Amino acid sequence: MPHPNADVRMRGFVSRSTVEEALAWLDAQVATLPAEECPLAAAAGRVLCGNIESDVDVPGFDRAMMDGYALLAADTIGATPTNRLPLSVLGQALPGAAFAGTVAHGQAVRVMTGAPMPNGADAVLPAELTSLADPSNPQSSIPNSQSVQVLAELPAGKNFGRRGEDIVRGTVVLPAGRRLRPQDIGVLSSIGRATVPVVRRPRVRIVVTGDELLPLGTVPTGHRIADANGPMLAALVRRDGGEVLSQEMVADRRDAILAAIQQPCDVLLVSGGSSVGLEDHVPTLLAEHGELAVHGIAMRPSSPTGLGRIGAALVLLMPGNPVSCLCAYDFFAGRAIRTLGGLARDWPYRSVRLKLAGQLKSAKGRVDYARVMVVDGHVEPIGISGASVLSSTTRADGFVIVPAKREVLPLGEEVEVYLYD
Ligand code: AMP
Ligand code: MG
Repeated sequence: MPHPNADVRMRGFVSRSTVEEALAWLDAQVATLPAEECPLAAAAGRVLCGNIESDVDVPGFDRAMMDGYALLAADTIGATPTNRLPLSVLGQALPGAAFAGTVAHGQAVRVMTGAPMPNGADAVLPAELTSLADPSNPQSSIPNSQSVQVLAELPAGKNFGRRGEDIVRGTVVLPAGRRLRPQDIGVLSSIGRATVPVVRRPRVRIVVTGDELLPLGTVPTGHRIADANGPMLAALVRRDGGEVLSQEMVADRRDAILAAIQQPCDVLLVSGGSSVGLEDHVPTLLAEHGELAVHGIAMRPSSPTGLGRIGAALVLLMPGNPVSCLCAYDFFAGRAIRTLGGLARDWPYRSVRLKLAGQLKSAKGRVDYARVMVVDGHVEPIGISGASVLSSTTRADGFVIVPAKREVLPLGEEVEVYLYD
């Protein structure tokens, strides 16, 4: 890998690392962070770091699945609306309140959904298939009647859930590496977990440089522009499971930048000033106070990307042009943050294979990140290639990677489109 010069300002990149070399360096820097115990109420979106086994059956008892009558299915044989079979009602079972006795032939127990199945019963007859009314006495229809008439046959085993039908004790309910979904939290709660072991979230600092920048929420005026990268990066970091420790804007001054990049964290994202201009102090500062391992990568956009370390932190120097910044995040920062946080390092984007409706031009030896739209099942390249036009990424449905060995992807070629949604 070409060794970066300590000071490349106004000299340009003599040589660039390949994307592969940059990724190889990056991958060697990151491994899954250690575990921590997280309260279940805060665990949605976190990444499990061990298999979770259930110590209990869920439910821990057989339970009624309908409001109706627990009975012996054999007692329903031959029942129809015109051949009603009477049973005597012994009492009732409610959710959380079992019936103490046992059901025998000719008997039933009134049950509500979720109630423990009474002993002896082997089916639940739904209330709709019964009648309380004595046809000879219409006033007799009372809900706590001592008897009930069966209007339909029912096989044994019907309308009740068995112990362990949801979760069997000893089984793995969720695997290590799972990013917890809301329903996972429900399952973990149902087996009685109060906390779960999760991968510690990568702690990320975002430092946005540029004298021309105005903070979030400011309407741009004069020659100043509002910071697009800070809020975009913060959203990306959170999407990838990172914790944003700070999001700071600093002037293009060595002392201000140095102070900002020396704050401890797992991953430091610096936007702007990463290239070879006079105001691009970050690479030299990093080379002096840490390590600048990669600077200048054969890709477009994001060529002026830098990778390195300072203290215990992994550092990503990202170009200020917002499309470059997004691309550098997609190629390098996101991958590092996901790996640290125990997620798959690959892109979290869905991809589809579709044919190009126009050609994509690149250059040999350079990887291109081309924004595209999907129109009528075809891939339309977005004309604007400028890295400063961030709205090209919001109009885009996704992007296509033109590999280093290709100079052009011709019209009609089937390509992989990574979808932003
Ligand atoms: P730089 O990488 O600092 O040389 O900036 C390259 C271009 O991106 C310049 O036009 C900057 O004004 C612009 N730029 C830098 N940082 C940001 C930012 N945070 N948000 C929007 N544009 C930016
Ligand atoms: Mg700048």
